[in-house]
Amino acid sequence: MNIHEYQAKELLAKFGVPVPAGFAALSVEEAVEAAKKLPGPLYVVKAQIHAGGRGKGKFKELGPDAKGGVRLAKTLDDVRAAAAEMLGNTLVTIQTGEHGKQVNRLYVTDGVDIAKEFYLALLVNRASGQIGMVVSTEGGMDIETVAHDTPEKITTIDIDPATGFMPHHGRAVAAALGLEGDLAKQASSTASKLYDAFLGTDAEQIEINPLAVTDDGKLMVLDAKVGFDGNAMFRHKDLMELRDETEEDPAELEASKYDLAYIKLDGDIGCMVNGAGLAMATMDIIKLNGMFPANFLDVGGGASKEKVTAAFKIILADPNVKGILVNIFGGIMKCDIIADGIVAAAKEVNLSVPLVVRLEGTNVQQGKDILANSGLPIVAANDLGDAAQKIVAEVKKAA
Ligand code: GDP
Ligand code: MG
Repeated sequence: MNIHEYQAKELLAKFGVPVPAGFAALSVEEAVEAAKKLPGPLYVVKAQIHAGGRGKGKFKELGPDAKGGVRLAKTLDDVRAAAAEMLGNTLVTIQTGEHGKQVNRLYVTDGVDIAKEFYLALLVNRASGQIGMVVSTEGGMDIETVAHDTPEKITTIDIDPATGFMPHHGRAVAAALGLEGDLAKQASSTASKLYDAFLGTDAEQIEINPLAVTDDGKLMVLDAKVGFDGNAMFRHKDLMELRDETEEDPAELEASKYDLAYIKLDGDIGCMVNGAGLAMATMDIIKLNGMFPANFLDVGGGASKEKVTAAFKIILADPNVKGILVNIFGGIMKCDIIADGIVAAAKEVNLSVPLVVRLEGTNVQQGKDILANSGLPIVAANDLGDAAQKIVAEVKKAA
């Protein structure tokens, strides 16, 4: 689960992390009121969307020469103008995809004069089984580019959660950033607080870019991206309230209500599979046969008829879907239950695209019989390769 920058900064501030003062705003007037509460003379008006790269982003409705989603403003009139240009318009960044995201909320912050921009992120380092703190002197820019072109400028410091953040970790962060004296102390203290925040909120990632040194020698978090481990959210009811469902893909949101793991993709073949590994293999084999999957969908181990029906509806609601491949291995989940769900859903939604079903495992014969006797034009497949070939052939035939 991801949250907005303003929420992330408010949260980090509770852990003692230094962030500039700021207020969220839903209208131009609120943005101006927010700025009036700040000391000035520099303000930053920032689009709040769940995507990075806002500064270099472009608004669809404004010309190519217009500024992006992070604007510096020197007067209240500048704040007003920036807010008016951004609110309601669609910001396209390298992280939003070409459709962009509508800006419905702004964050107006106290602007600082930047001397240097660093990068600092925390994540679970699966390779070491520890918490990785990734630091770089190359902040303010796309970290993927830094990792690609100058990997030596990125340092990863692993922290063992059993013993926690130690003074030597702090010194390592300061050294990696080339800091000495008071700034080294600030870096060490901020890193330690960010570590507390990471652990305390069951975060999956905390990315600070930039972590800035101001002209008057202060280290400050100017941008923060925080995401939490969805599986731990049951013990953070307060954090759940930060969820902004309007930022989530509607189909993925609907899927989460049924506990379905669904991720929308750009291809033509809808997939309904049980088990993440089998779902990945199914997507691969569709590609091998020359077409692309429209989604990843894992219905899980113990799916009910209702869950299968919901999954079907979600797949079919995607206008790109030209055919559906169901690939189920009935272990815990019995094939006849799946078959019942498929038939019920196909009748309910008036299935208009080819459907290939491969069933294997517990009660497979009952399952196949249910499909065969349903009166629906369902194509049965014997194995994974056969299923992929058949769905591609059916879609091409229907085109
Ligand atoms: P992003 O583009 O979505 O990553 O948004 P950021 O919050 O990182 O802002 C983009 C850039 O705007 C930063 O890298 C800074 O260079 C600049 N910026 C953000 N806040 C300030 C500020 O208070 N003062 C100045 N001078 N620049 C800022
Ligand atoms: Mg940034």
